[in-house]
Amino acid sequence: MTTIPPATGANPDRACLHHEFHVQANIARVQPDEDADGMPKAFVAEISISCGQCGEPFRFSGLSAGLSYAHPMVDVAETTLHAPIRPASADPDFGMGLPGFAIRRTV
Ligand SMILES: [Zn+2]
Repeated sequence: MTTIPPATGANPDRACLHHEFHVQANIARVQPDEDADGMPKAFVAEISISCGQCGEPFRFSGLSAGLSYAHPMVDVAETTLHAPIRPASADPDFGMGLPGFAIRRTV
């Protein structure tokens, strides 16, 4: 009987050591309601990382779940980072004041 190796080249009998990574990054432009051609109210970098060998997703540690334009947060699975960004020439409060949300764990 012939065993077909996984397409990733990983050995199924040995834990993957995660030497390679796949990074997906998207930049969201949060547009003003009334002027779709104007300067966005905020920009958000959305980043997810998985192992390039076995495909296992990586979680971001130490961040709360939700979405904020003031500080980085993660999705509920902790696998997508939502980080507010601004042009280098913009004021430090660029994007602040927009509503966000937080998800809290209750026990
Ligand atoms: Zn891996």
